[in-house]
Amino acid sequence: MAEHESLEFGKADFVLLDNVSLEEFMANLKLRFEKGRIYTYIGEVVVSVNPYRAMNIYGRDTIEQYKGRELYERPPHLFAIADAAYKAMKRRNKDTCIVISGESGAGKTEASKYIMQYIAAITNPGQRAEVERVKNMLLKSNCVLEAFGNAKTNRNDNSSRFGKYMDINFDFKGDPIGGHINNYLLEKSRVIFQQEGERSFHSFYQVCVCVCVSVYVCVTRQTDATISWYTDQMGRGSVTSSIDDGADFKAVADAMKVIGFTADELQTVYKVLATILHLGNLTFGVDGDTTLIENSKVVAVIGDLLATKEENVEKALLYRTVATGRDVIDKQHTAQEASYGRDALAKAMYERMFCWIVGRINDVIEVKNYDAKVHGKNTVIGVLDIYGFEIFQNNSFEQFCINYCNEKLQQLFIQLVLRQEQEEYQREGIPWKHIDFFNNQIIVDLVELQHKGIFSVLDEACMNVGKVTDKVFLQGLNSKLVNHAHYTSRKLSPTDKSLEFDRDFRVRHYAGNVVYSVVGFIDKNKDTLFQDFKRLLYNSSNPVLKVMWPEGKLRITEVTKRPLTAATLFKNSMIALVENLACKEPYYVRCIKPNDVKSPLLFEHERCRHQVEYLGLLENVRVRRAGFANRQEYPRFLQRYKMISEFTWPNHDLPSEKEAVKKLLQGCGFEQDVAYGKTKVFIRTPRTLFCLEEQRTEM
Ligand code: ATP
Ligand code: MG
Repeated sequence: MAEHESLEFGKADFVLLDNVSLEEFMANLKLRFEKGRIYTYIGEVVVSVNPYRAMNIYGRDTIEQYKGRELYERPPHLFAIADAAYKAMKRRNKDTCIVISGESGAGKTEASKYIMQYIAAITNPGQRAEVERVKNMLLKSNCVLEAFGNAKTNRNDNSSRFGKYMDINFDFKGDPIGGHINNYLLEKSRVIFQQEGERSFHSFYQVCVCVCVSVYVCVTRQTDATISWYTDQMGRGSVTSSIDDGADFKAVADAMKVIGFTADELQTVYKVLATILHLGNLTFGVDGDTTLIENSKVVAVIGDLLATKEENVEKALLYRTVATGRDVIDKQHTAQEASYGRDALAKAMYERMFCWIVGRINDVIEVKNYDAKVHGKNTVIGVLDIYGFEIFQNNSFEQFCINYCNEKLQQLFIQLVLRQEQEEYQREGIPWKHIDFFNNQIIVDLVELQHKGIFSVLDEACMNVGKVTDKVFLQGLNSKLVNHAHYTSRKLSPTDKSLEFDRDFRVRHYAGNVVYSVVGFIDKNKDTLFQDFKRLLYNSSNPVLKVMWPEGKLRITEVTKRPLTAATLFKNSMIALVENLACKEPYYVRCIKPNDVKSPLLFEHERCRHQVEYLGLLENVRVRRAGFANRQEYPRFLQRYKMISEFTWPNHDLPSEKEAVKKLLQGCGFEQDVAYGKTKVFIRTPRTLFCLEEQRTEM
């Protein structure tokens, strides 16, 4: 019996469970976790439980074991799914994608890296230099993106605070020749504020500890921003044991150099980081009618870092240029407005730089070798590592967007898992029985529908002239969504004390109830950055900084268009993402976080059960079982089992492989449990496969 089918380790595929119940599912998941078997299948879906310890299962030997194999031939592993996606791409010329989902800390990013490593390891047998270069860039890009896009949170010391979708392009030989990264909604509010126990993005701490660039951060004693309000609120910047900022700084700088960032570009990145840290120490005061900067030395430092004049920085921080009819006047900010502007500037500079870094990486990795196109074949494997569902103590606009994203992906999962099964049965000419799922389309609509959805109501509120408040937005929701089964607020449910009047609304997501506070929604959605800052940065004499701010070119009288809101931009990017994934053949990795204390030993039953439920894993098993647990192409099946039948061993004299498989299965008495498609044999119950495997190993 194959190792992965040994009962000692539980069932390697949940479809093999005797009864599909939550109890049995959980018992199997727990048993496997405790036995160090962190991967289990549901058909072609990999369920992964974060082991929270180093596993000796990703090395060269393991890679060799999975290369070119079929899923069921080896114990469940990410490599098997990566290989399946690769084979589909190479043999069948299909674009494929691997969608990795799960909550924060469940192991998505680690999984995406192992998958990329696997693909890198099994390709380019000819050692072509260009392919090696591309592979190296793709792998190196992870380290850079993590430095700028990840942060320590209370859930994960290396939490991705942005969504990432990476396409890897392959040529006709099946070797990687390029790639492209799409990034989604960086949590930029983290630049200016973090919850207790959390940090800002890793990059800030890295730049502070590295001696060679910390001069930017600490120019003089009075302008020392190694302690910046932005990163050390209440002294919380302290490093955790799992992070070595000094070593990471070096690794990131090396990776950036390998990718091709120039020395000037690197210096600019450090200067932008330092500028933001200095901004965090800038405070405003008033003297009569005048708003002023209390620590003007810092302004001089910022001027230097940004390669612009000190007085330009000061002016942009204290005044706003507005066009009134034909006149252009400078309007002084109040101290509060100035603080708002400073924070907006810090966030925007960081976000812009992040997008610029992604763009620079894309410049380098994008397919340049048009030979591939000449040969008529250029296929893609996409890897999606995007933020999982979030329920915090206090949920704001960011959580709302992230949870909407998860609704979209769940919708895709429902459609694709069903569709794929259905299509395969149809293609093979086998009848299909329908299975019911909870369809979360209603929640997707609640968020994104034109005119009626939450995003629309928010955008409408933001369009209002005059003083729009978050409260007005909530009132809008209450009147539009009064009868919606998945929406409520205190006004609509007056007895529900868990909701605060004029502040909260609750959405019943597929993954659970989430209470959102509307405080900050309007502001975050409008995402205003005064034009003065854009012009300031565009007019810098540092050309690298300048290219990050092209719209600063517009003169004040030329700026007319209202920029799209953050919600609309996010919605559009999600719709595009889902459209892109929907036209690829999907493979899924569903990650589960076993406990909240990063323990390799603890399987918190309740915590895991909740994830199994909202990921819809049980329905997934049922769908899989309603059809056929296993299907294999005739030649492959014959190859594997021909030794168990006298009709097929060592050779058969039947007219086709299909006929030979029929004869073999009839001979074993499995005729009732199988169906014969055009190219594949379908096996209904796992037990049959199990028996076949047993007979095979007994031979
Ligand atoms: P987020 O949504 O916050 O980005 P995530 O799902 O991407 O979370 P990861 O960063 O991949 O989570 O994993 C969190 C931590 O769990 C890792 O830093 C690592 O310590 C551990 N971990 C995850 N997967 C594995 C694995 N396969 N082997 C060993 N440790 C792992
Ligand atoms: Mg991550």
